[in-house]
Amino acid sequence: MEIEIASLSTKKIEGSLFNIVNKRPIDKRTNEFLKEVSRFLKRNSFNTGNKEVVCLRCLKAFIIVKSKDYEIPIHIKDYFLSRMKCEIGHDEYYLDSGNLRKIR
Ligand SMILES: [Zn+2]
Repeated sequence: MEIEIASLSTKKIEGSLFNIVNKRPIDKRTNEFLKEVSRFLKRNSFNTGNKEVVCLRCLKAFIIVKSKDYEIPIHIKDYFLSRMKCEIGHDEYYLDSGNLRKIR
């Protein structure tokens, strides 16, 4: 059975962050959002022995919640979400630093 949490490394996701920043000028709000995502990765990545990974389902939920908070342009939100072929969170919740948070 495939383990979903290991399907995308933190490095790869951080690469995507830099891609967005380098591709076009981004506004202050989007910049703050990207920093939040970066901090989420740092808080929630864990080592599987040969690489750092993060739970994609939780990351996806976090991105959806935060992109609402920051009113992120749809193309940036979609940029991330299209790379995450997985469900959103776990039964309406996601984990952040071991705390269960409701997806709103
Ligand atoms: Zn998760």
